[in-house]
Amino acid sequence: MRRFLFGESGYPIVDTRKLARYPYLEEASGYIKESDVSIPDLLEDPAYEEARIAGRNRVFEALENTKIEDHSLVSEAEIQMELLSYPIARMIVSTVGDPFLIKRYALSEAKTGTLRWMDEDTDFVRRLAEQLDVELIVENGTMKTHFTDFLKNTAQLRSKGWKLINQRVEDGYVVLNKRKFLRVLQDALRRKLEDELPLEVNEKILETFQETTLELIEKIQERKSKYKAEDMGKIRTTRLPPCMHRLLATVQTGEGIPHTGRFALVAFLRHLGLRPDDIMRMFSTISDFDESKTRYQIEHISGITSGTKYTPPECSTMKSYGICYEPDDLCNRIKHPLSYYRIKGKRKTG
Ligand code: SF4
Repeated sequence: MRRFLFGESGYPIVDTRKLARYPYLEEASGYIKESDVSIPDLLEDPAYEEARIAGRNRVFEALENTKIEDHSLVSEAEIQMELLSYPIARMIVSTVGDPFLIKRYALSEAKTGTLRWMDEDTDFVRRLAEQLDVELIVENGTMKTHFTDFLKNTAQLRSKGWKLINQRVEDGYVVLNKRKFLRVLQDALRRKLEDELPLEVNEKILETFQETTLELIEKIQERKSKYKAEDMGKIRTTRLPPCMHRLLATVQTGEGIPHTGRFALVAFLRHLGLRPDDIMRMFSTISDFDESKTRYQIEHISGITSGTKYTPPECSTMKSYGICYEPDDLCNRIKHPLSYYRIKGKRKTG
């Protein structure tokens, strides 16, 4: 089997099996560049048909399950196919060019990576961190990263366990166990992959993946059309307070919202009578949508599993969470987002 020897990184030898598992490593793209496979070969040669199918599957797995499946990496042909499926998947994602798909794909690669990295040794983690531009110091079995890297890569993690104030910090470095450090790297990889996409695609690439592109566009549209403002039944979007309007609009574009925002939005919509299934559909367009987790949260907030039907937070709490967005004149006269909705309704009908 062909092996790739790293240059000055200090990390010795990685076999192609490892490159196939981590195709976003610089060494993996270096390996592909050094091999004899050209882009026209990848697009047209019948010898790479399986790699094209694997690349297509990679994108569909990301879209549907936020996960890249493990495949057998025993034979050289299997390894090569897996390795090549990555650049092909990136081309396919780029032919669609949809921001939701890009986010979903990047997240899936990063999440799958995190699970796999747990099996790797410290040298590997060091190498990966270096490529993701995250500082790492390994000392006495613990991993330390500079607090600025920690903050940059945990901005989306809202639970208490990720707040800087709750970390052990020594001379500006946050001390983490391997699992938590890998979670930091997950976000760094997700952002990197997101930033790299979409790639420029030429006519030949568009033509090769035309069918897959259309299939993906249709699937994405299906997901998006499951939720539309008018599908909210009796809820009038024109009556929503600015905070809920913003949260809802963000969800509709497939972007994630903070945990506090999810809680506020779900509790608000439930209070207005939207059914859990409708809320589920609405959240299904978010790039990090996890069906069972989302259902659990919605049912918990709704009181179905918790026995307590939660009320949406008051304006003062929304402000302290940083999710009171662009309050308008009416906001100055109310203390609760639900009051805003009620008053707007009266104005309209009165
Ligand atoms: S003042 Fe209240 S209702 Fe208005 S945007 Fe802020 S949180 Fe929402």
